Amino acid sequence: MQNYDTDVAVVGGGLAGATMALAAAQAGLSVIVVDSIDPKTATDAAFDGRVSAIAFASCRMFEALGIWPALAQDAQPINDIVVTDGRVREGAAPLFLHFDHREIGDEPLGHLIENRHSRVVLIDALSSNSNIDYRAPMSITAAAPDLHGYNLTLSDGTSIRTRLAIGADGRGSRMRAWAGIKTIQWGYNQTGIVTTVHHRDDHHGIAQEYFLPSGPFAILPMTGRRASLVWTERPKLAEAILELDDAGFHDELEARFGTYLGPIEALGTRWSYPLGLQLARDYIAPRLALIADAAHGVHPIAGQGLNLGLRDVAALAQVLAETVRLGLDIGADDVLARYQQWRRFDNVSLAFIMDAMNRLFSNDFGPLRLARDLGLGLVNQVPPLRRFFMRQAGGSVGELPQLLRGEPL
Ligand SMILES: Cc1cc2nc3c(=O)[nH]c(=O)nc-3n(C[C@H](O)[C@H](O)[C@H](O)COP(=O)(O)OP(=O)(O)OC[C@H]3O[C@@H](n4cnc5c(N)ncnc54)[C@H](O)[C@@H]3O)c2cc1C
Repeated sequence: MQNYDTDVAVVGGGLAGATMALAAAQAGLSVIVVDSIDPKTATDAAFDGRVSAIAFASCRMFEALGIWPALAQDAQPINDIVVTDGRVREGAAPLFLHFDHREIGDEPLGHLIENRHSRVVLIDALSSNSNIDYRAPMSITAAAPDLHGYNLTLSDGTSIRTRLAIGADGRGSRMRAWAGIKTIQWGYNQTGIVTTVHHRDDHHGIAQEYFLPSGPFAILPMTGRRASLVWTERPKLAEAILELDDAGFHDELEARFGTYLGPIEALGTRWSYPLGLQLARDYIAPRLALIADAAHGVHPIAGQGLNLGLRDVAALAQVLAETVRLGLDIGADDVLARYQQWRRFDNVSLAFIMDAMNRLFSNDFGPLRLARDLGLGLVNQVPPLRRFFMRQAGGSVGELPQLLRGEPL
């Protein structure tokens, strides 16, 4: 049976799946994207309060895909990253790490973009691309490969046959489960509280990360005099903080944020996310490739989760584009193996680095505190080390696929 409805079916039209669809379409493939969430809900202000740090290599990919001008309207450049150790109500300890973008070039270290803004831009791009058939709200309810294709059943009872299925359906991926791919996972006993704050003084594009005993407290500059917080607490305390009235919440917030940007005011909704690590043992199965959170979910300590997913997108899209050019089968085992080999080591090593950073920094044990302060102090004193970490954060190390170099496919 060689009849196909599409070359590629992307299951999950979140930030990674939508970008994957655009890249596959640019490679000349026909694409169906299926997402279970209504686009109106997905782009509503209440749906996702997160602001993502998008590394400069990922920004170049958005440029190559033609959506950067629209994303840039809400993008706050990250000029500097400042890391300090701290304790609640004591303010930040002396600075021990400072990344200044001017040390590695003219480009900022990345941009901060509100997820809800990115969703609007991506959904618009999906809907207006003639190679893409975007179906939402619609769920995949069953999926299985045959010898030459992959069969998907949709919640309205229709079915799709594709040459290649891409699982971009997030941490709870059903595509992964249906393919029998196991995961390694553990929780961090931490909750990430996310909210937006207005402040009086200019932030100058400086992102701050305080390491408090319960976990990192990140202050991420946004457009206007606003900042997005990723505030890590033990789950019980996070629950109590989330339930505080506005005055109580403000007090807890100020005890951590400090007053370095003048008076602050929390702006409305508070979101929370349980934090944990999850790694799929394999990224591929017959006629299936997993990308982004479906393949690896990491701690947000360094704002790298989505960026790793976007690197998967760029690598898989390039492998597919080269296969199309040679007139070969995009779902063949050796094609998918190339993708897995390109991405798995980078993802696993970064997941463990972030795991180790979180363990090292989320405690108040004196000797450990001294060791980490000395360690980061050392990085701060050695310019080549500093530049290495900045390039790593910018996503421009290793074998970069074309899209991450800003070159269209
Ligand atoms: C507090 C916090 C802060 C973060 N900050 C950053 C940051 O600054 N920078 C960064 O790079 N990363 C960051 N991350 C990580 C980042 O948010 C995630 O890696 C990213 O959102 C994952 O995107 P995704 O598209 O893979 O998955 P998801 O966003 O989970 O999307 C999956 C999609 O699949 C759909 N779906 C699921 N099942 C089905 C089905 N059966 N049928 C059809 N559709 C289905 C869902 O509707 C959903 O739209 C942060 C994470 C957290 C928790």
